[in-house]
Amino acid sequence: MNQRSGWRVPDHLSDRPTRLTPPPESDNPGARFRVPEQMSADIAAERIERLAALAEAAVAEGEFDRSREYVRLARRLAERHRLSLPRSFDRAACDRCDVYQRPGVNVRVRTQRGRVIRRCDCGATARYPYSD
Ligand SMILES: [Zn+2]
Repeated sequence: MNQRSGWRVPDHLSDRPTRLTPPPESDNPGARFRVPEQMSADIAAERIERLAALAEAAVAEGEFDRSREYVRLARRLAERHRLSLPRSFDRAACDRCDVYQRPGVNVRVRTQRGRVIRRCDCGATARYPYSD
């Protein structure tokens, strides 16, 4: 009965440190486990850039839901790594429906009194100053 209650690490996680397998060369041997290492922030930033390109391409192909998945993934990554989305990405992603907006495809863009106004096909309107 040494084996604890049939609990086993799923294969896709088995190379990660877990509660049951303390890290072998730990400088803190008392630690029972550690949180799996996060990918570094610059790798996350790179992935976000790539997701922006993918989201844009998806919209060009009319795959709006696919672009939403990319935008959501990018937002999640940014949140987890405490990064902000690049300004252009943030402006192009709809706050309401998460779609990546491409003028002439799924967003109307106009200007009024020093502001850019973007009206998404979902009906959401975003306004921000020219300078951004
Ligand atoms: Zn929208």
